[in-house]
Amino acid sequence: MPLLQNVNYDNCEFQLLDLTAISPVGNKYFKLKRNLEAASAQGFDQILTFGGAWSNHVHALAQVGPELGFKTIGVIRGERPEHLNPALTEAEECGMRLHFVSRKVYQQRESQVYLDALTHFFGAHYLLPEGGTNQAGIEGASEIVDLLAEHEVAYDDLVVPLGTGGTLAGIASKLAIGKTVTGICALKGAEGIFRQIKIMIPGVRNWMIDHDGHCGGYAKCPPELKNFILDFEQSTGIPLEPVYTGKMIYRLLQLLQTTDEYADRRVVAIHTGGLQGRRGFDF
Ligand SMILES: *Cc1c(COP(=O)(O)O)cnc(C)c1O
Repeated sequence: MPLLQNVNYDNCEFQLLDLTAISPVGNKYFKLKRNLEAASAQGFDQILTFGGAWSNHVHALAQVGPELGFKTIGVIRGERPEHLNPALTEAEECGMRLHFVSRKVYQQRESQVYLDALTHFFGAHYLLPEGGTNQAGIEGASEIVDLLAEHEVAYDDLVVPLGTGGTLAGIASKLAIGKTVTGICALKGAEGIFRQIKIMIPGVRNWMIDHDGHCGGYAKCPPELKNFILDFEQSTGIPLEPVYTGKMIYRLLQLLQTTDEYADRRVVAIHTGGLQGRRGFDF
C-alpha cells in the first residue's frame, strides 16, 4: 500500500496514512524506535517485554530488536501451548527467547519484586512495558505527526485505533493548534484509559477517545465486523484486521455517516498495521 491514499467507500471519503509503508510492524516501530536507542545508549544488549500470544508488540520487538543487534526476551501470558501459533513461531525464529507464565504471574509484570526476579533469571536487560507504551514510546509515536508534515499532508483531524493510548498520546503531543486526534478504543469498559493518557501528556487537550467502536470487546470479531472487513478490502484493496484497524475504520465510517463531527474537516485515518494478528481469526 502507498503511504497515503484517498479512500472512497459507502459514500464516505477520507485519507489513509499507512504506517506499514514505513515499517512492516506499523505503529509498533514508532513506539520501539527511541526505546531501542535508549537501550543502546544505556549499554544493554538484551530487551525484555510482555504480551499475549498474538501480541503485535512482542512480534514487532522480535523482528526489529535483532536488526539493531539486540537479543530479545518475550514474557508471554499463559502456559506454553503444544504448538506455537504463527506469531510466536516467527518470534522464536527471529531469536526471541519465549518465557511463558501463568496469568497470575503475568499480573505481576509491574511489581519490582517480580522484575528483580526476571533480572536474576535472564541477566541485565532493558525493560519495555507491555505494548511498548512509556515516555520513549510516546516520543517515538509523535514522529507520526512529523511524517504527515514531511509529506505535506493537509488535514484537520486524525483517527487512530487505541489500545494503551501510547500512539494517541504521542500524536496529540505534537499536533498543531486546531488539529485533533481521536482514538477508537479497541477495548470494552476501558473508560479509565482517559485518565492514564492525561497523565502521559498533561495539559494537552486536542484529543478524544471514542468508546463505541469496540464491537463487543478486545479481540472480539462479531459477524458484522468480519463482513465489513471483507467488503471493505474487496472494494478498496486495503487490508484490515479485526483487533484494531478494522474496528477503527468501521467506527469512522459510522461517525462520518451519522454525525456531523467531521463535516468540512479533512480526516486522515492512520493504519497502524497489525495484519499479522489477523491469522488468529477465522476469515
Ligand atoms: C498496538 C496496536 C495499536 C494500539 O496502540 P496503542 O499505542 O497501544 O494505543 C493499534 N493498532 C495496532 C495495529 C496495534 O498493533
